[in-house]
Amino acid sequence: MDSIKIHSLGFPRIGANRELKKAQEGYWKKLVTQEDLIATGKDIRKKNRKLQQDLDFYAVNDFSFYDQVLDMSFLLGVIPERVIEKSGLDQYFSVARGSSCSCASEMTKWFDTNYHYIVPEVNEQTEFKLSSTKVFDEYLEAESSKARPVIIGPVTYLTLASQQGKYDALAHLLQLLPVYAEILEKLADLGAEWVQIDEPIFSTDLSNEQKRALSHSYVYLRDKGPKKLLTNYFGELGENLELFFNLPVDGYHIDAVEGVGEVGEAVNKLPQGAVLSLGVVDGRNVWRSDYQKIIDLVKPVKGLLGNLWLAPSCSLLHSPQTLVSESKLDPEIKSWLAFAEEKVDELKDLKKLLTGKLGNDHILFENQQILKSRLQHKSVVDEKVRARVVSLLPTDFIRSEAYSSRSVQQKEKFKLPLLPTTTIGSFPQTKEVRAQRASYKKGNLKQEQYVDFLVNEVKQTVELQKEIGLDVLVHGEPERNDMVEYFGEFLNGYVFTENAWVQSYGSRCVKPPIIYGDVSRKQAMTVTWSQIAQQFADTKPMKGMLTGPITMLKWSFVRDDLGSKDVALQIGLALREEVLDLEEAGIAMIQVDEPAIREALPLKNSQKESYLKWAVDSFRLSTAAVKSSTQIHTHMCYSDFNEIIDAIAALDADVISVETSRSQQSLLEVFERFRYPNEIGPGVYDIHSPRVPSVDEISENIRAACKYIDIERVWVNPDCGLKTRDWPETKLALENMVTAVKLVREELLVLA
Ligand code: GLN
Ligand code: ZN
Repeated sequence: MDSIKIHSLGFPRIGANRELKKAQEGYWKKLVTQEDLIATGKDIRKKNRKLQQDLDFYAVNDFSFYDQVLDMSFLLGVIPERVIEKSGLDQYFSVARGSSCSCASEMTKWFDTNYHYIVPEVNEQTEFKLSSTKVFDEYLEAESSKARPVIIGPVTYLTLASQQGKYDALAHLLQLLPVYAEILEKLADLGAEWVQIDEPIFSTDLSNEQKRALSHSYVYLRDKGPKKLLTNYFGELGENLELFFNLPVDGYHIDAVEGVGEVGEAVNKLPQGAVLSLGVVDGRNVWRSDYQKIIDLVKPVKGLLGNLWLAPSCSLLHSPQTLVSESKLDPEIKSWLAFAEEKVDELKDLKKLLTGKLGNDHILFENQQILKSRLQHKSVVDEKVRARVVSLLPTDFIRSEAYSSRSVQQKEKFKLPLLPTTTIGSFPQTKEVRAQRASYKKGNLKQEQYVDFLVNEVKQTVELQKEIGLDVLVHGEPERNDMVEYFGEFLNGYVFTENAWVQSYGSRCVKPPIIYGDVSRKQAMTVTWSQIAQQFADTKPMKGMLTGPITMLKWSFVRDDLGSKDVALQIGLALREEVLDLEEAGIAMIQVDEPAIREALPLKNSQKESYLKWAVDSFRLSTAAVKSSTQIHTHMCYSDFNEIIDAIAALDADVISVETSRSQQSLLEVFERFRYPNEIGPGVYDIHSPRVPSVDEISENIRAACKYIDIERVWVNPDCGLKTRDWPETKLALENMVTAVKLVREELLVLA
């Protein structure tokens, strides 16, 4: 008898060639009909079922035309009043992205991944009601006993609806549960043997209210519908383990990658007769599994359990689809990787190995050979890099003087006016810029021509900034395809894929680079561009522009054979060289962007402190070596950093710029309570829309900032880079910004 079953919690849905993206975007532009879009979805689901047909179970309803949380909202009848007139896919997409009618709901990050979901709008008016047939249709469509519908559990759902304590959606639990019961009963009626209920909220610190809600929900749903597989992923259960296994369900899935240390306890706590599902294959990273390690983990517990299932740790939504389309990757490095399709194959291998069929030894042998080749590869471990990290001294992380004396020297050097103006770095990446880069990459444009083109772009961008009258200039970043990929290409230890797309939200996909080896700088990365730009800048300061270590780390797939802290320090060291080269080349202001510092925050409080320590350290390592008169800037793309404000201050950047224009007030209140010690540029207008802000609006924002922050320390800038904007609106907006500053400066003169 097979005592091991293999299954998956979800599969990538964008299609191996991003078919869904193309269909969605075509539909939004009215170039693709609704029937064709629906047919594309159907086709992807069919292919995905086929790819998973050798598993014992796979998830259905993991497909989505936009987002699985939004699907859940439609299933439960949580549909905003403002779109009630619409129907079908148009109603759905207007909640997802209705920019023209301002119908869109908020979007935010799904736990600690780079996936974003649509925040459910639960409020006093919400009346939960079964309102969509998608989960039933997709179950029936599969026509297979292997198909296991997946839904998001009630407590995770309501927690996601309660953004940052703004509204306590959990208070609606009692009204919500009958709809869950109805869904479960209906699935049972349709013949489903199992249903998968995702409650990744178990990976976070649970409040007493959440704990009570979980107990209540699963007791309430106990006898309703099919057998229930309760799943947790994105981390260990920790203190929640006891509660998890106390809930009356039929199967329990745990993340046995991040929670590998709690498998033993899980076995002890598993109720009699229940299924234990171990997520042993990393569902959110790209590395081949170590079969021996998994066998060693599973073998001892296998005998103790009647029903053991193996799966990826989480849905494979967070993994690229297949290695098959990677033709340019170094074959050796490629052999170390497993994307979603290959992870399904790994489960098949593991089942063979663990059920002890004879003649399978070669599977284990080959797997171990591959891992050995990775371990021994010459560019995976670079002794020089390792030695440099080991020999770091505490002083390597500290600027030689405190901000108070640095600022005097910097003021003396730059002689900037009060409320200095600048931008965050990028200027419009027009179609032309992208077309030139593409033809250069394809080999249709000679390097010389491409460089000439870029130099001219930089020249015009600098000229324009002078004309507008900005105080601190940037080169505009036309040479960068992406703020991580650009740098990764100059670093040892990074590789890039052609097709390893992962859904970020809706039709948007990202292709994170892979950090496979020790990181060091091959050559200077930005110095030439900054120097060229400086020449066009006359006497105005030119700000250099780098991506910080945590962002380089968080927006990549990171090796699993070295701690993230060490990888971050290696990147920090590489950037330190670049920073010093920039300084040497006469660039006296250097910005190191860290938009990802907050999003990389661990889910559990107990892990946050140590993360923030090494995150701050790696930033400081990259910036601390400069002279006191060199000004270090940093930039973050959000304003909500209540939780990490001490760490932000600990970065000890001379100037930070942050995104405040969409929630100006809440950010400024933080600064009222916490006196940020250095200089700060709260974004004075929102770059996320093409709307040109008026002079009045901007000057109001500047005045507001000056109320909360000492005026000597206020900078004036847009709230993020301008690369997604067009030139005409950019020019107008920046002109208005400069006019607004002048106005406020004059008012101050009058007052003085
Ligand atoms: N310097 C980058 C830019 O302006 C910063 C991007 C970001 O904050 N994500 O584009
Ligand atoms: Zn930004």
